[in-house]
Amino acid sequence: MDLIQPKHAYADDASQWHIYTNTSLRTIGALLAEKWVDICLHDENIRPTDSLSSNIVGMNLVGAPYIPVAIQTIKRLRKQFWDELVFVLWGQPLTQKENKYGKVLGLDEGQFKYLFWKGVYNGMKEGVLESLLNIKNISEWHTISLISMYEKLSDSDFLSYFSTETSLYVSEWCKFNCDFCAALKGQAEQYRESEMLWKDLNYIVNRLQKLWKNTVSMYMSNLDVFQSAQQLGEFANMILQIKACHPGFTFSLRGLACTKSFIHLDKKYPRVLDKLALAGFNNVGYGVDGIWPEIWKWIKKPQNNEKEILDAIRLTKEKYAITPELLMVFGHAGIDTEKSLKDAYDFAEAMVQKYWAVPRPYVAKSFVPGNDGRTKSDFQESIKLIIENPILFNNLEYSALASKITHPDDSFRNLVNEYYLKMCDLPGNTTLPILPYDIWDSKEVLASKKRENSGKFDR
Ligand code: SF4
Repeated sequence: MDLIQPKHAYADDASQWHIYTNTSLRTIGALLAEKWVDICLHDENIRPTDSLSSNIVGMNLVGAPYIPVAIQTIKRLRKQFWDELVFVLWGQPLTQKENKYGKVLGLDEGQFKYLFWKGVYNGMKEGVLESLLNIKNISEWHTISLISMYEKLSDSDFLSYFSTETSLYVSEWCKFNCDFCAALKGQAEQYRESEMLWKDLNYIVNRLQKLWKNTVSMYMSNLDVFQSAQQLGEFANMILQIKACHPGFTFSLRGLACTKSFIHLDKKYPRVLDKLALAGFNNVGYGVDGIWPEIWKWIKKPQNNEKEILDAIRLTKEKYAITPELLMVFGHAGIDTEKSLKDAYDFAEAMVQKYWAVPRPYVAKSFVPGNDGRTKSDFQESIKLIIENPILFNNLEYSALASKITHPDDSFRNLVNEYYLKMCDLPGNTTLPILPYDIWDSKEVLASKKRENSGKFDR
């Protein structure tokens, strides 16, 4: 089976340098390799696919904007190689997770078929992969080592992945249940088997040192890095042990977190935070998402409160010397107002000035494949429009400006964009605002937006 990482949604032909690790694709590869499936890896951010080893191709969609990329890649590969190529797709937009009414949160069967036609399968559906490949009992994700996939990489490709920040699969799931979030939520965090993590990290460090590289920068997969004190402590110990066995080797680690979990850890297990900082954890992105309790309640994020957010930002910086980032998903249609947008901006500005916090603003999107809004009746017309015109999936990117599709009210949309762009102008901001495409865009306007979006890669 061939596994392909398609080109980044905002990479043009000239910018093939945005190389990043698709850990999910590698994990699938490792799980299949364990079942004796012959895996061939391709990464179109490094080079175009010039040969295939089988007639089944797998791709992982990192988010909704990858849906049009996948459609184009399928068309191109079928034209280039064989009309009858079979494709299997994975990723968050295709999740089969259901809401409490039994509705699938990812693309439903009809939408999937409309977008991808014959010979393309949703690998997130139970049993699909097993029946296509004639295998049984694929292991669970957290039980597998990824070494079998690293071994397939040439030294030069391996170095390419580790010359920039690479993702590190440490855990999945988050116990909280924020409405707009499309990640794996509503279930306690689950760590990978520590033996597998240990094996992978040792492999990575040994190979990098052989290649004369003594440092690695990693984005941990945890959705709320401070959620599980004991496992986090074990992870920090693991990194410290590896560092002790490899003198001179350094880790730079970062992750996402909820301020409530930080406060809990700081009160009850400060040693874990000390050890984590010593291991190289130097940057944490806190989900702040506005600053009004009414809004947190409305978006089902009751775990946030202003005092804890302030304390967390201060202590993170002053006590642990870790840089706090402010993830500000704001502009929720139906609840945000000019005053709440302004207050969110003022808060972010104050945190930047006082603690050198890093602003990371994003525009709230009420419906994206995988979140709760996806199934709500209010949004079905807009969803239909996007499915019929897949290029519009970029409207659902959190870094995209509010559009007529996501924020139909003209004056509210203008306000959201005003404060979003203002926050993007704060010192240290890392978000690159994406222009949303529109079905009414002329060819020239679309081409100009594409040029403008080109090379805008999120951190
Ligand atoms: S937004 Fe963050 S805290 Fe909320 S459910 Fe998603 S990952 Fe968990």
